[in-house]
Amino acid sequence: MTELAVPTSASGTAANPYITAQRQFDQAATLLQLDSGMRRVLREVRREFTVNFPVRMDTGRIRIFTGYRVQHNLTRGPAKGGIRYHPDVSLDEVKALAMWMTWKCAVTGLPYGGAKGGVICDPDQLSRQELENMTRRFASEITVLIGAASDIPAPDVNTNSQVMAWIMDTLSMERGYSVPAAVTGKPIEIGGSEGRPMATGRGVTVVTLEACRRMGIDPHQATVAIQGFGNVGSVSADLLHAEGFRVVAVSDVSGGIHVPGGIDVPALLAHRGAGGRLADWPGAIPIGNPALLELPVTILIPAALENQLTVANAARVQARLVVEAANGPTTPEADDIFAQRGITLVPDILANAGGVTVSYFEWVQDLQSFFWEEKEINARLTRVMERAYLQVEELAQAHDTTLRMGAYCLAVKRVADATQLRGIYP
Ligand code: NAD
Repeated sequence: MTELAVPTSASGTAANPYITAQRQFDQAATLLQLDSGMRRVLREVRREFTVNFPVRMDTGRIRIFTGYRVQHNLTRGPAKGGIRYHPDVSLDEVKALAMWMTWKCAVTGLPYGGAKGGVICDPDQLSRQELENMTRRFASEITVLIGAASDIPAPDVNTNSQVMAWIMDTLSMERGYSVPAAVTGKPIEIGGSEGRPMATGRGVTVVTLEACRRMGIDPHQATVAIQGFGNVGSVSADLLHAEGFRVVAVSDVSGGIHVPGGIDVPALLAHRGAGGRLADWPGAIPIGNPALLELPVTILIPAALENQLTVANAARVQARLVVEAANGPTTPEADDIFAQRGITLVPDILANAGGVTVSYFEWVQDLQSFFWEEKEINARLTRVMERAYLQVEELAQAHDTTLRMGAYCLAVKRVADATQLRGIYP
């Protein structure tokens, strides 16, 4: 099913995202001169939980699914992180995503640790009833970990507000009272936040504008290619288009479209909303996911999965600016190639932190049972993202390094300081 770029490491084997995450951490730990004890604590996940659980399918047959919930770090607050449904979910992928969540929450200054969850499944092959049954049983299996004070799930690839509603309801039924703050990304009707569905793409837009301002790129002269047209990719496309950028290519799991003159993004979203496929967009040149990454554009936004920009294609990327809307789309080898070639990269733990930031606002609103207006949420989100960008940039300059390492230095130091202060129990 996948038509994405070949996910390879320097050795030619598929890059393991957890090894990528640990390599990134090691580089930051060296820059920060962390002592070896602290390194050992922070480079491993705190808890990894695997569940194999039965689900009754529409045929009456019982199928066993495997799912994971991993908590990387809980030092700065409850664990926070999404739940992914995908055939390629693995424990190492979830561990990497959990570690990146720790750094993401620390970069933005949110009082959370990092977690992630996933179920190995292809949701396109499940009926709505089967999806609900699977979600509810998975939620029940992980109730030992999740809760408003301990670990708060949210949407990720192939999960959405409806899935979050089922998780919240399952947890509430088991507790005997409603626990809206135990899950974020819920529908507004049951304690969700205004602005949450757009939040990650809005954050991507804020950091793209910040980067352009510093690089002297005029949005009205800039072209953009976006890989992945789900929640994050489509909202980013819409908001960047509204800011005057020319979005010339987008793609999803089935492939992409290239419109050199620029895509009318609101019209494309309406076409998709009415059930149309990207491939049927009139006047578009069909393009594969690997070729999209190498288009001659100003800005490239990977917004699908890990391991898209690798040693195999980084030298052919033509964008001046890469904004990582997806988690882990770039391998460390590709990072080095971009740095050597003078390509600026805004790293995932900064670029896509808008989602967890508004998830934090949602959690705060649920705990207070007091809800804010969208205007206030968007203004606060913009302030958090702009502040984080500035702090990351300052550290990158101070250490004479990339924005990724600037972000890691900021995040790892915050978590290390908190760990030092709390000490070791007992
Ligand atoms: P989504 O399920 O809404 O969309 C995923 C997109 O990627 C779809 O267009 C899908 O067709 C495409 N895709 C999936 N598998 C693919 C494959 N094998 N080949 C090609 N394309 C494929 O997911 P999303 O929430 O938009 O998440 C996208 C990325 O952003 C992920 O890396 C996720 O971890 C990250 N992210 C999401 C959020 C959020 O709030 N949803 C927050 C931060 C980071």
